Amino acid sequence: MSIEISVIAPFYNEEENVMEFCQRTLAIMNSMQLRFELLLVDDGSKDNTLLVIEKLAATHENIRFISFTRNFGHQLALFAGISAAQGQHLILMDGDLQDPPELIPKLYHQLQKGYDVVYAKRNSRSGESALKKTTANLFYRILNRITRFSIPVDTGDFRIFNRQVADELMKMQDHSKFLRGQMAWLGFRESAMSFDREKRKNGTTGFSYSRMFRFAFDGITGFSDFPLKFASYSGIVVSLLSFVLIIYVLVAKYLLGQTITGWASLMVTILFLGGIQLLSIGIIGEYISRINDKVRNRQLYVVKKTNTTPTSLQ
Ligand code: UDP
Ligand code: MG
Repeated sequence: MSIEISVIAPFYNEEENVMEFCQRTLAIMNSMQLRFELLLVDDGSKDNTLLVIEKLAATHENIRFISFTRNFGHQLALFAGISAAQGQHLILMDGDLQDPPELIPKLYHQLQKGYDVVYAKRNSRSGESALKKTTANLFYRILNRITRFSIPVDTGDFRIFNRQVADELMKMQDHSKFLRGQMAWLGFRESAMSFDREKRKNGTTGFSYSRMFRFAFDGITGFSDFPLKFASYSGIVVSLLSFVLIIYVLVAKYLLGQTITGWASLMVTILFLGGIQLLSIGIIGEYISRINDKVRNRQLYVVKKTNTTPTSLQ
């Protein structure tokens, strides 16, 4: 009999949360009375997360784990889980108990109604700063503007999807993974389910603002060329403006006999142009660094220890 559900959760320095996560998830999965596996991915934790995971795996036959040599990031941890999962349905959720395991049966039943993906949409997000919420909101609105498909607002990676979606996801050769965008890009039938996101149980977030910024750029560069076009459009606009200005200066000098003086206007022009140029170079740089990643074509992550069959990885 094949496995019906694989629950995949990444852990980065979550020694205080792993145990409760497994207890609550195992309880709810057992109550569903179907074959399941719990795939715990240790993303190079520096604390005792792996130790706790190994202990749990030794006593529960449904628990499988993958442990990275170092911290490769949340998206790759999820991707490693997807690659190793054997279930007909896959669930992605955070390991810090912000995504309640008790929602799993509801997600599963909703999927049975004929959807390929059911994602959990955040009604409220407790314990997160106003700045994080506003920047996240703004980011998704911008992303939806500049891509041709829509990525659901107020959702993370907490979702269930079927085997077909998982197989297609694994065919996507993107080096910078942005799973929620990739899934939207695939275009399968999606449905949303609302929930109240809880506070992180213990520990602190593994996402600094610089990591979030990088993640946001992965999303944008992975799915849109708009920033590159912005660079060329702003080049055209500035060139046109400067052309008009040149004519104005020439007319003023030779026909009207006035010379335009002014340190202020010079500074403004130089700074404005410098700003646009640096911004454009930065934008190009973001794309080039991802091309560079792709050209190097390294393995996405390195597994140090696992009790899944190594052949099922990557
Ligand atoms: N996580 C991970 N690798 C990282 C950062 C985070 O595997 O480099 C895990 C983390 O343990 C948690 C989930 O990803 O289970 C979500 O991370 P976090 O709670 O830090 O993000 P937030 O909820 O603040 O967006
Ligand atoms: Mg969290």
